[in-house]
Amino acid sequence: MTGFSTNGRLEQAAIEQALEGSLTMAERHSSESLDPIIDRFLLETNGSSSGKIEHVRTHRSGVRPPNPMLDAVRELLLGVGEDPDREGLIDTPKRVAKMLREVTSGYDVDLDSILNGAMFEEGDGQPVVVRDMTFYSLCEHHLLPFHGKAHVAYIPNGRVVGLSKIPRVVEAFARRLQVQERMTSQIADFLEDRLDAAGTAVILEGVHLCAVMRGVSQPTGVMRTQALRGAFKDDPALLEQLMPIGPTSQS
Ligand SMILES: [Zn+2]
Repeated sequence: MTGFSTNGRLEQAAIEQALEGSLTMAERHSSESLDPIIDRFLLETNGSSSGKIEHVRTHRSGVRPPNPMLDAVRELLLGVGEDPDREGLIDTPKRVAKMLREVTSGYDVDLDSILNGAMFEEGDGQPVVVRDMTFYSLCEHHLLPFHGKAHVAYIPNGRVVGLSKIPRVVEAFARRLQVQERMTSQIADFLEDRLDAAGTAVILEGVHLCAVMRGVSQPTGVMRTQALRGAFKDDPALLEQLMPIGPTSQS
C-alpha cells in the first residue's frame, strides 16, 4: 500500500478495515455459491492465489455483495416498465452485474504493480509523448459510458517507463465510475509522482453517451480536458509544441 490518494486507494483502506469482519460473509459466499457466474468471474479475473481471491471476495462480499446487485437490476427492469421474467431479460441481472464488475475492474488494479520492473534510468530528458490511447469509462452521474482518446506527454527527470505501461495506467483509471476531469487529473498526478517527471501533461477527448443519447450536446460532441503539471504548467507553449491539437479548457 503506497498511500496514493485515489478513490481506489481510499477504498482499499476501507476494505482492509472491513477485512476481518467480512470473512464470514466471504466464506458463506464461497460455500453457498450465491451466484456461480459471478464466482467464476472472480476466479477468472483474480487468478488462482487463494489469498488474493479471498481478499477480493471480501471486497465484493463485504462492501458490495453480488446478490443484491442482481436484485437491484431486477428492480431497475421493473422500474422501466419491463417484465424481468420474460425470456430475453431473465439472465439480464447476471449479465449486467458481470459487466459492471468488468468495467469497474480498475478499482482492483494495483497501479504500482503496473510500473514495477518497467522503470528505467534515462538521463537525456527528451519528452515522451504517447497519443491516441483508446479509453472506455463509465460516467458516475448516469452510469453510461464515455469513451475516447487519451494523450500523455512527460519530460523525464532521469526516469522513464516502458511505453506499453502508460495505456495500462489510463485503463486502470478509466475502469471505474468516473468524471472525465477527475480521471484526467488522476492520471497526471500518478505519473508525475511515480516518474518524478519534470513535467506531465494529460489530455482526454471523450464522447459522453449521457449527453449525446439525450440530445444534451451534438452527436459528435467531444469533451476535452487537460491536466498540466510541472514544466507544462509553467510554459503553456510546451504543450502546443508537443501535442498541437488545438485550444483546450484547463482542469
Ligand atoms: Zn453522465
